[in-house]
Amino acid sequence: MRITSRRKTMAFFLVLGISLVALTVALTGSWIILNWRERVLLFFGLVFFLAIITGLILNTIFLVREIRRNEQHDSFINAVTHELKTPITSIRLYLETLQRREVDEAQRQQFYKSMLDDTDRLLGTVEQVLKAGQAGYKRATRVPVEVDFGRLVGECMELARTRHRLQPEALHWQGAVNGREFKVHGDPEDLRTAISNILDNAVKYSGAKVDVSVEMDAPDDKHVAVRVRDRGIGIPPEDLKRVFKRFYRVSGRSFAQVKGTGLGLFIVRSIARAHGGRVFAESGGEARGTTITFELPRSGA
Ligand code: ADP
Repeated sequence: MRITSRRKTMAFFLVLGISLVALTVALTGSWIILNWRERVLLFFGLVFFLAIITGLILNTIFLVREIRRNEQHDSFINAVTHELKTPITSIRLYLETLQRREVDEAQRQQFYKSMLDDTDRLLGTVEQVLKAGQAGYKRATRVPVEVDFGRLVGECMELARTRHRLQPEALHWQGAVNGREFKVHGDPEDLRTAISNILDNAVKYSGAKVDVSVEMDAPDDKHVAVRVRDRGIGIPPEDLKRVFKRFYRVSGRSFAQVKGTGLGLFIVRSIARAHGGRVFAESGGEARGTTITFELPRSGA
């Protein structure tokens, strides 16, 4: 309902903007014809005409952008509320059951485990929101150190396997890593956050069959890159760049079932940029899998 009314508002302002531009063109056009012989008047008229038209166009673009941004804020708040509410409701249910009923030891342990999983989920969401808040600022608190990037990626893979309860072959290396140097300069904690976000997405958007490969590469002698490839639902071509914007989530049926806040890739891009690197997405389109490449300058380059 709200989205439809927003769309209507947007359409209204768009039509209003275009109509105003058309009206100004018509008015000024007739004025120019009437004053054809008055050179000075014509000159100033044209200057004002161009200024008004530019202003109107800029105004319309600004309005449409603001409405879009508001829409994204709304869906972000809905997503975050959902991500906070679901685990809290679940924990509450387990606690009520423990309080009211006698449960055997095995079941009690199962409840504890589920509650711990729920608190992890809560913590994950809160951390993402906090990190996204920090991402806008250039931090100078932590001193960059030399990081063995290959090893760091390996540790993140191990963590992702545990977190998503994956078999080793579901998330595996592609190509050799051992014996190759992938040293970078940076903040290990931020780099871990970035790689973990990319891996979590690869698993999350893979559907039931997770098959994620991770490849370390040196595109040239100044850079190192990690490429995370999944065989999941993929990203439509028009969204490949937009997914890195804050709050942006791809809309569509297959994506709607997967929960998220739209902050993960924004955080990844901020971390890449803060390290002088970049990140980009490639995909053959919907249901064709996705490859995310995270590239950093090589240490000492
Ligand atoms: P979210 O919390 O929604 O996962 P992200 O910023 O991490 O937020 O990702 C933004 C959007 O990009 C996601 O909503 C999803 O639609 C798309 N996306 C990210 N990674 C993948 C992937 N590996 N495969 C398919 N879609 C992806």
